[in-house]
Amino acid sequence: MIEGLPPRLDDRYYLPFGEHGVAERFPAVCPRGHQLGPDAVLVGAHPCLCAGRGHRTWACWACGSVWVWPPCLHHPEWVPWIR
Ligand SMILES: [Zn+2]
Ligand SMILES: [Zn+2]
Repeated sequence: MIEGLPPRLDDRYYLPFGEHGVAERFPAVCPRGHQLGPDAVLVGAHPCLCAGRGHRTWACWACGSVWVWPPCLHHPEWVPWIR
């Protein structure tokens, strides 16, 4: 049984899942306000070193706007997702 999250995981972005798992939180609406859900968002990963880890990206099917976390220095057009 674990209590909460491993310390390196920010609870703004991760949720405990089951006994040993961790689930990522995700945005509910795109940067322009479209509802995001199972058929409305393309979840991706962008390998990059600017943040010391890869980036998680969420692209809206409706308008193509992209959320990113952590923010990427090389893609200023991707809106950082801040919870
Ligand atoms: Zn959108
Ligand atoms: Zn980057």
